[in-house]
Amino acid sequence: MYGGIEAGGTKFVCAVGTGPDDLSEMVRFPTTTPEETIGKVIAYFKNQPHSLKGIGIASFGPIDPNPSSESFGYITSTPKLLWQQTDLVGPIKKAFDVPVGFDTDVNGAALSEVRWGAAQDVASSVYFTVGTGIGGGAVVNGKTINGLLHPEMGHMRIPRVEGDDFKGHCPFHGPCLEGMATGPALKARWGMPAETLPEDHIAWDYEAHYLAMAVVNTILVLSPERIIMGGGVMDQKQLFPKIRARVQKALNGYVDSEVITKNINRYIVPPGLGNRAGVLGAILLGELAAG
Ligand code: ADP
Ligand code: ZN
Repeated sequence: MYGGIEAGGTKFVCAVGTGPDDLSEMVRFPTTTPEETIGKVIAYFKNQPHSLKGIGIASFGPIDPNPSSESFGYITSTPKLLWQQTDLVGPIKKAFDVPVGFDTDVNGAALSEVRWGAAQDVASSVYFTVGTGIGGGAVVNGKTINGLLHPEMGHMRIPRVEGDDFKGHCPFHGPCLEGMATGPALKARWGMPAETLPEDHIAWDYEAHYLAMAVVNTILVLSPERIIMGGGVMDQKQLFPKIRARVQKALNGYVDSEVITKNINRYIVPPGLGNRAGVLGAILLGELAAG
């Protein structure tokens, strides 16, 4: 058995198991202070009847995922002030003395979708989540791509829709992808919560444009074999055909693969694991850490 912790800015989700067919009930703790939240997570795993071989943490960020770094296992420069420079791996390791895997939430979800979900049949894929923030994780040959730090696909720069003068909602970059296309950005721009915008509102055409530009950039940089798009905003299913059409139009036949020119509805897809992708990714990080 492995333990999984999906550490999110709003809630922490924990479960134990080995995969989608063998997963305990998921429990949720609101993200309050680090002490309180990590304390609840530790108590939850202490109460499990199973002995755990490893624990994985798939976390909101920015994080330090580099095992040879001093601040490995920390959430680092997050705009969530209470969580800046917070050691996540340390207290878990101390409490359980098992290998602890650590990566971004989206890298975790990307990994679990490759192992069990919508990218099982390919060797490389990218997972985007579009919710309170936007994150992207890439998997190539079973491994996530980290480097200097980790990818920050949510902050890529994207061309505007002609005539759109919204100043953008990202505190660091204004109109980056996050600044234009998250749930909170939609709310700031249209004056109502994203989930209450009617399905035929012009907002979804703008939204599809910005997400399509991000997908186009990702295809051009990484050439992934599949792109998975999840998160609360992608519950607006009408976005999928709009995004696919805009990606095809923007690429204009240049990326000459039938997967894009003909079968794009099998290329840009929702997650196969639904809302379990995150915690299953964390369990997988625990498995990988245990070796
Ligand atoms: P988080 O990113 O906090 O982990 P979510 O992925 O659920 O959680 O994202 C929450 C954001 O998504 C909120 O800004 C919310 O307004 C937006 N959202 C949630 N559900 C929907 C929906 N059905 N349609 C549009 N926006 C939604
Ligand atoms: Zn930004």
